[in-house]
Amino acid sequence: MKAGSVIYSHCGSCEEETPHRILKGARGQSPDKGFSGTVQCQTCKAVHHVEIPVEIPCMVPMVLSEGENSRRVKIQFVRDEGIMIDDEIFFEDHNILITSIEAKGKRVKRGLARDITNLWAVVFDTVKVKVAIVKGSTTIPEVMETVPEEEFAVGDLLEFGRKKVVITKIKTTSKMVYREGRPVEARDISRIYTRIAREERPIETQ
Ligand SMILES: [Zn+2]
Repeated sequence: MKAGSVIYSHCGSCEEETPHRILKGARGQSPDKGFSGTVQCQTCKAVHHVEIPVEIPCMVPMVLSEGENSRRVKIQFVRDEGIMIDDEIFFEDHNILITSIEAKGKRVKRGLARDITNLWAVVFDTVKVKVAIVKGSTTIPEVMETVPEEEFAVGDLLEFGRKKVVITKIKTTSKMVYREGRPVEARDISRIYTRIAREERPIETQ
């Protein structure tokens, strides 16, 4: 735990467990000394001093899906570590995305590792992005596979076979983007809308 990283700790002002950013702190010399330092609540911005006992690892059962297959695994966290839906974690050489959390028998949006009874996650090395090619009154659906951090913007050219299309708008999980110069990462895209820029004729063989 170093300055800048975020830990979950009880906040006296919020009267609940909230994310805190470490402003200043040190871990004791021996590994069982834990952490003591100054932290800031990310919810109410109050600054306090905390003493956190040693980081005790805990194994959490998880159902990890990859494509159509899923398997049961165990993933290691620190007991007091907060886990949220939509967290991206590195696991067994894969980027995985937490999709569902069960703590104390209930589905929750976030929880502490020590309370979590099961996690569900998907391998998130690549994401499928839906593309609609609008051609007159018809729409041709396409899907493209890309890395989650790939950026797309209005005005960008894409190619599907011999079709060259230009992005006209991007629907994200929260809004519609119409303007150029506002790139969106593939992980946040619900659908890309395009129109045909140019359709090349098949190459004639002699
Ligand atoms: Zn607070």
